[in-house]
Amino acid sequence: QRAIDPTKYPEDDIQEATVRPKRLDEYIGQDQIKDRVKVIIEAAKARGEAIDHILLYGPPGLGKTTLATIIANEMGVKIHSTSGPAIERPGDVASILSKLQPFEVLFIDEIHRLPRPVEEMLYSAMEDFKVDFVYGKGPNAGTVTLPLPPFTLIGATTRLALLSSPLRGRFGDIFRLEYQDIDSMAAIVKRAANILKVGITDEGALEIARRSRGTPRVAIRLLRRVRDYAQVRADHLIDHETACKALDIQGVDELGLDEVDRRILLAIIEKFDGGPVGLETLAASISEEPDTIMDVYEPYLLILGFIQRTPRGRVATRRAYDHLSIPYPESKSK
Ligand code: ADP
Repeated sequence: QRAIDPTKYPEDDIQEATVRPKRLDEYIGQDQIKDRVKVIIEAAKARGEAIDHILLYGPPGLGKTTLATIIANEMGVKIHSTSGPAIERPGDVASILSKLQPFEVLFIDEIHRLPRPVEEMLYSAMEDFKVDFVYGKGPNAGTVTLPLPPFTLIGATTRLALLSSPLRGRFGDIFRLEYQDIDSMAAIVKRAANILKVGITDEGALEIARRSRGTPRVAIRLLRRVRDYAQVRADHLIDHETACKALDIQGVDELGLDEVDRRILLAIIEKFDGGPVGLETLAASISEEPDTIMDVYEPYLLILGFIQRTPRGRVATRRAYDHLSIPYPESKSK
């Protein structure tokens, strides 16, 4: 497993459970979303209603599940969590819906992966708080309607574009989670270190923050790995030097790039003359999955301005050449 991969692995689950913020005021950064969520919760409480359905989108590891849990906590209700691929048939979703109590939260992660018939059943559940079942076939067919209590659906997705517009249209609020800035990331690292009872200096926290690609999940994972190193080699304290050494050993450089990022950039520069090169061709040339490149690596390389996406494919920029200490070809500067 790669240190900087923002996807969730089983080892993350156990650790994240202990450091996951439970209240809105423990949730660091994402200030605009937090302000809006506060208002939504207060208004719903004042009216004595369930809050309107919310869609959270953005790259993995930025805090969508955490925010959904916090919203339920702040409302003082239970959260029922599932995911798009886990719900196979309309019957599955009906059985989950039938267990909901008034105002409770149903959280569906990877909601873009719901099968179509399941999605269609959700339309009336979301809009009218009821689901219709069709039974039998032909002249013997009929429908039963199951009324539902008012509830809140919180959907999370990494791919907004894959969500159908009827489903998207049924959410009252759609929030885009952003990569976090360095200060927020450092605060997240310090908070987690505190909970995990690891000594850390401000500079140590900043160094981990700098190399975590704006992604809290990555920061927490790097913190754990640096902690192991500090325990064995540095008398349990994470200072700047310890953080740098431990992360260098993990193959995570000072910008948060790892071996695969460097292979991607090197391939574009050396095998494809700086690009443009199509995603599939690029992926095949370094034996990676196109989806992994698109979800895990490319978003951060784009943010750093190391690559550009053009209609003809990916291009390496001057910054990428500089970072890898490769002279930028004169022919390209013209
Ligand atoms: P996602 O659902 O977007 O993949 P998660 O909500 O599971 O991401 O977040 C990953 C981890 O990062 C969580 O365990 C949580 O502890 C931490 N985290 C995410 N956002 C924040 C935040 N704003 N403040 C503090 N910790 C956060």
